[in-house]
Amino acid sequence: MLNNLIANQWTPSAAPGSTPVFNPSRGIEIARCPVGAAPDVDAAVRAAQAALPEWSNTPPGDRARILFKYKALLEENYHQIALLICREHGKTLIEAQGDLRRGIDVVDLACGIPSLLMGQKLGQVARNIDGEAERFPVGVCAGITPYNFPAMIPLWMFPVALACGNTFLFKPSPKVPLTAARLVELFVAAGLPPGVLNLVHGGVDTVHAILDHPGIAVVSFVGSTVVAREVYRRGTANGKRVQAAGGAKNFMIVMPDADMDLAADAILSSSFGCSGQRCMAGSVAVVAGPAAEPITERLRSLAAEMSIGATDEGAPVGMGPLIDSIALDRVQRYLSLGDQQNVKMLVDGRRHTTPSQGFYVGPSIVSGVAADSGLLQDEVFGPVLTLLREDDLDAAIACANKSPYGNGAVIYTRSGGAARKFARNVNCGMIGVNIGVPAPMALFPFSGWNESFFGDLHVQGNEGIQFYTKTKVTLTRWS
Ligand code: NAD
Repeated sequence: MLNNLIANQWTPSAAPGSTPVFNPSRGIEIARCPVGAAPDVDAAVRAAQAALPEWSNTPPGDRARILFKYKALLEENYHQIALLICREHGKTLIEAQGDLRRGIDVVDLACGIPSLLMGQKLGQVARNIDGEAERFPVGVCAGITPYNFPAMIPLWMFPVALACGNTFLFKPSPKVPLTAARLVELFVAAGLPPGVLNLVHGGVDTVHAILDHPGIAVVSFVGSTVVAREVYRRGTANGKRVQAAGGAKNFMIVMPDADMDLAADAILSSSFGCSGQRCMAGSVAVVAGPAAEPITERLRSLAAEMSIGATDEGAPVGMGPLIDSIALDRVQRYLSLGDQQNVKMLVDGRRHTTPSQGFYVGPSIVSGVAADSGLLQDEVFGPVLTLLREDDLDAAIACANKSPYGNGAVIYTRSGGAARKFARNVNCGMIGVNIGVPAPMALFPFSGWNESFFGDLHVQGNEGIQFYTKTKVTLTRWS
C-alpha cells in the first residue's frame, strides 16, 4: 500500500480502502493506492501552512537552486522514471521519455524564477510619487492530475507553484501513483524543507476534501471535462482561484496540396501515439476535396502495419495497451456503435493481432460516420481515428468549429494563405500547421478553449507564473 508524504514523512492514509494499480501490459496488479480521506488532506494542508511563511520569504534565487538540483536529479533518474511510466501506464519507452522530457522543460522554466518574478516600477508616476508592482505567492496550492501524463502534468504544476513561493498539496491519479511518488521523493531529495510539497493519494473523496478545505487558496486541475467543470464550479464557489483543463476532440484538416507522406505520418502518430490517450490526440481527420484518396490509402496501410505489445520493459513496439479494462470496454463500445451505425471500418482495431494479456486494442480508422454519432461527438480517448470528407477549407473549418471542445487543431497544406485562414478562424487555442501534436512547449501557455478549459490563466509560460502569484502595487511619496 502506498503512503502519503506529509512534511517529508511517509505517512499512511487515514482511510482504510484502496484501489488497484495495474501494469496494463500484463493486466496484473502491481500496487495498491489509498482511496484517501479528508483527514489526509487536512494533515497536508496543515504541513503546507506551517511551511509557507519561511518558504515564501526564501529568496527566489535560493528557491531556484533547489529547482536546479531537482532538474539534475530528474536527468540522473531519467531512464528509471521513464521505465516506471511504461510499467504503470503502458506507454512505449519513447512516449514515456517524451512525457518526462516535456515535464523537465517546465522545471527548466521554473529555474529562471528570479527573472520571471521581476516586477515593474515607474518613478514619478505622479508628482513626487513612485509606483511599483511586485508579485507575491498566493498561499497553499493543490494540484489534481489525470492518468495520461504521469510526469508532464504534475510537473506543469508544482515546480512553478513552488518557485513562486507557494507551498503545495499534490493529488495524483490513483491509476499512476508510482511515478507521482518518485517525482515528489526526488524533489525532497533536492532539498525541499518539510511541508513545502506534500503528496496525498486518493480519488473523488480526496478531491472533494481539497475543494472544500478553507486552507487551500489555489487549485490546478487536469482531467475530463465533466470533472473539470465541477471542480471549477465547486472550487470557485468556495473562494479559490481555479484552473481546470478538460477533455478534447481534436480535428486535423488535410488540404489537397498537402505533403501526403508528412500528413499521414503526423496523423498516425497524433491519433495512435500513447494509444490515443492524449488530450491533444488527433481524433478526426477532415479531408478537403481530392485529398481523400491518397491520404486514406496511406493511413490505412500504416495503421495496419503498426506493432502492438507489452511496453513494461521498454520493448520497442509501435503501440502499447490502454490504461485499464474500463478504458478498453469504452473503446470497444464505440467500435460496436460503429457496427450498429453501419460505419465503414477501414481498419478495425479489434481484428489487429494483440497480446492476449493486458488491455490491448489495435488502431482503428472509420469513415461514413453520421454527424450525431458518438464517434464524432464524444472524446473516445483511445486509438480510433474518424475520417470525414468536406468540399473545401471553409467547410472543413465549419466542421471543426461545431465541436464544443477547443484544445488543438491542425492543418496540412503547402499554402500559406490556407494555413493563415485556418489558424485565424478555427475556434480553439492550440494550432498546428504541418505538425502532428501542437502541444506548446513550456515557454507558452497550454491554451485550451471552450469546454476544454475552465478558468482564465492556463499552465505553463507567463500565464503559469501569473496564476501562482498575486500582484501588489505600492505607491510611495518622498519629497
Ligand atoms: P478524470 O477526470 O477521470 O480524473 C482526473 C482526476 O480527477 C484524477 O485525479 C481523479 O482521481 C479525479 N476524479 C475522477 N473522477 C472524479 C470525480 N467524479 N470527482 C472529483 N474528482 C474526480 O480523467 P482521467 O481519465 O484521469 O484523464 C483523462 C482525461 O483528462 C481526458 O478527458 C483528457 O482529455 C483529459 N486531459 C486533459 C488535458 C488538458 O490539458 N486539457 C491534459 C491531459 C488529460
